[in-house]
Amino acid sequence: MKLPSDIRIGVIGGSGIYEMEGVSRIKALSISTPFGNPSDAFMVGSLKGIKVAFLPRHGCGHHLLPSEVNYRANIFGFKTLGVTHLIAITAVGSLQEQIRPLDIVIPDQLVDRTYQRESTFFGNGIAAHVPFAQPFCPVLSARLFTSASSSAIKVHNGGTLVSIEGPAFSTQAESKLYQKWGMDIIGMTTLQEAKLAREAEICYAAMAMVTDYDGWKQESEAVSVKTVVFNQKKNAACAKKIILRLVPEIAGDRHCLCADSLNGSIMTRMDCINQDTRQRLFPLIEKYLMK
Ligand SMILES: [Zn+2]
Repeated sequence: MKLPSDIRIGVIGGSGIYEMEGVSRIKALSISTPFGNPSDAFMVGSLKGIKVAFLPRHGCGHHLLPSEVNYRANIFGFKTLGVTHLIAITAVGSLQEQIRPLDIVIPDQLVDRTYQRESTFFGNGIAAHVPFAQPFCPVLSARLFTSASSSAIKVHNGGTLVSIEGPAFSTQAESKLYQKWGMDIIGMTTLQEAKLAREAEICYAAMAMVTDYDGWKQESEAVSVKTVVFNQKKNAACAKKIILRLVPEIAGDRHCLCADSLNGSIMTRMDCINQDTRQRLFPLIEKYLMK
């Protein structure tokens, strides 16, 4: 089956994210990539006449741990479909008093505390170093903030997200340490997605849905799956409304750093890149091979 390559907008989040009012003509697309299989089939639908690809990050029925998610295959799959803008919905804990459960944060910074994940498409015949000082697309993040702000929920513009390996939640000592470091929220999946999206020249912004106060707040109820799932469900309807408002606002033209992040980032001389590597990374490096 020939895959479509004209889908510009992607949404990655929980199971059933495509089940929203206004999304029609849904079909499942299974994609295999040189990096293995994505978490699940992509659900492609039309939202106000705009094609959108949805992917449940943890697979059907949430069977993948954050360490088991094939981030490379997921992002490569979106790239293959032609996606230029990717919106991530993710559950996080709060490390700051003023960021309350059920608030939304649009983070602008990341700190990596993961240690057993593939975080790059490069290597094996090609070296590249993309800029990552601003890990989220500032333009898409600003649009996401505007769309989210028109809901009744409190939305925080900016914040630092620390990505931990998991799957256990952090200890109280770790939680307090991250707080002392100035981190605002804590999650398990955003770092790799943001980094790989940047390598794939995809604009990436995250809508972090706060489910709990992590472990630092002694007087609050300890973070548990029960609390996280309960608050996630509460937030899901709101997240869908925000996506519905946001999608038509995303313009086709891109004037941000993400659109050409590989420009000047590939260290390897083009004539030294072997055929296998060229083929493997073709959707990513196609426009630079001609130079
Ligand atoms: Zn961008």
